[in-house]
Amino acid sequence: MNKRLIIAIDGPSGAGKSTLSKALAKKLDYLNIDTGAMYRSVALLAGQQQIDPQDETALKRLCSDMSIEFVREATSERVIVNGIDVSAAIRTPAVSLLTAQVAACPAVREAMMMLQRKMGEGGGVVLEGRDIGTVVFPYADIKFFLSATAAERGLRRYEELKEKGIDIDLQQTIAEVEARDAVDTARTHAPLKQADDALVVDSTHLSIEDVLEKMLLVVKNKQAELVG
Ligand code: C5P
Repeated sequence: MNKRLIIAIDGPSGAGKSTLSKALAKKLDYLNIDTGAMYRSVALLAGQQQIDPQDETALKRLCSDMSIEFVREATSERVIVNGIDVSAAIRTPAVSLLTAQVAACPAVREAMMMLQRKMGEGGGVVLEGRDIGTVVFPYADIKFFLSATAAERGLRRYEELKEKGIDIDLQQTIAEVEARDAVDTARTHAPLKQADDALVVDSTHLSIEDVLEKMLLVVKNKQAELVG
């Protein structure tokens, strides 16, 4: 029987991580863990409770008191925080910006890392985020680092938000994507960084299907290597 692997997918926002990790998990019948949704949930609650993103004590308390659950439905995945469905609320541009700030807090990272390790340690998981291959699971069986130009990533985010009926400007969306990259890359604790042993996939000119095919081939080769 094939070993159930730990697969890390890291990269900046809009590189296609969410779509691909969901598709890959589905193909392999693995659990998909959207770690960005976890940081977004912390930011949503921090905003609602008017907690200053610099207030580490309050953020630490918030993390230890909160419950996060992923509920998979036939065509979607819901994020339930403290019993409430926050799937849509965590995706607004305002929450995105606040997320990059709370995600820089060491206590928040520690709490989320512990949760992610617990969810993923048994294998059979695809985890998508920024620091999965470097910090959360440095010994992941496979590490992908997805990238694409900021202009392409901004365009994808713009189209995604437009589809949800959110009225936004393309240039502003590209600028927001770049601003978030800058915060994620510059932070001291677990910054967005490519692991030395990650396989880099530039999706700028590739379709989702093409990237998925590449990923599945890597998984197949890894399985063969482990068996042989
Ligand atoms: O992936 P997504 O765009 O939903 O992530 C939202 C934010 O959460 C990122 O901009 C980043 O600040 C934070 N994040 C993180 N570490 C992760 C996943 C997300 O810091 N593993």
